[in-house]
Amino acid sequence: MKIGFIGLGNMGGPMAANLAKAGHNVTGFDMADVSIEGVTMADSGVAAATGADVVITMLPNGQILRAVADEIIPAMTAGAALVDCSTVDVDSARAVADQATAAGLLPVDAPVSGGIGGAAGGTLTFMAGGSADAFAKADPLFDIMGQKAVHCGDAGAGQAAKICNNMILGVTMIATCEAFSLADKLGLDRQKMFDVVSTSSGYSWTMNAYCPAPGVGPQSPADNDYQPGFASELMLKDLRLSQQAADSADADTPMGQVATALYEQFVENEDGLGTDFSAMLPRFEKLGRG
Ligand code: NAD
Repeated sequence: MKIGFIGLGNMGGPMAANLAKAGHNVTGFDMADVSIEGVTMADSGVAAATGADVVITMLPNGQILRAVADEIIPAMTAGAALVDCSTVDVDSARAVADQATAAGLLPVDAPVSGGIGGAAGGTLTFMAGGSADAFAKADPLFDIMGQKAVHCGDAGAGQAAKICNNMILGVTMIATCEAFSLADKLGLDRQKMFDVVSTSSGYSWTMNAYCPAPGVGPQSPADNDYQPGFASELMLKDLRLSQQAADSADADTPMGQVATALYEQFVENEDGLGTDFSAMLPRFEKLGRG
């Protein structure tokens, strides 16, 4: 397939490289001066998108996605797929999908889970929204870049699944960290706390697979001085998207709201920026009740 790939950063770069390695003809564009193995670089998004069977975007946010879509959609061939893998707000995903559909294109919003390691290893999970035809066109590429793709529903459903999942993740991480901090202050050994909770009704992915306490449970960023992993500022981005979506859908999400406020405080006013999102544990350790 002839593929245009726009946004070749930490995630997009290795994803594009994997498509090229699998034998696809990949033309890429990024505002920054980057070079990716096997990918032919174009000098604009329009040049990368022109004549492509599928255009993939992997960009920082919805505003940039909308600007790029405005430029490239008129240049794309009718029947081509426009697959956005960025994490963006549901409203932007739906607006771009409407614009692409009106131009005779097949739009898919397909945010990913799995981080930089998943992008490099081709083991991402894709959560996709769009028509059955659009999903079918993108699916063979998801197979190369990832290990699983779930067709979640119509346009915007992929972004909706992503932010709901990550709202649970943010809330659960905070709950796990504050419980460890309380356990410490009650004199409970961290290993014992893990042994009980990981096999009791308080278990969760954050406790069992990504334990925020160093030296306890499986290897996690806590064992590497809280180097990300999944950075706190990216958690904050996704939590903010969840609250933006909750506002526009009139959904009551009090826990998501508190989690957003806590990560905002951690990233903007404390020392959370650049740390893994599990560094909430040392943060709680430093604080008392007042
Ligand atoms: P990044 O900042 O490394 O990459 C974004 C790239 O887009 C940059 O190289 C930038 O130069 C380029 N860009 C910006 N504006 C552009 C434009 N107008 N035209 C062309 N290129 C442009 O970010 P990333 O970590 O690769 O993340 C990309 C997306 O994936 C984000 O939406 C992020 O939320 C999501 N995501 C990231 C992770 C992660 O662990 N990094 C995990 C899941 C999802």
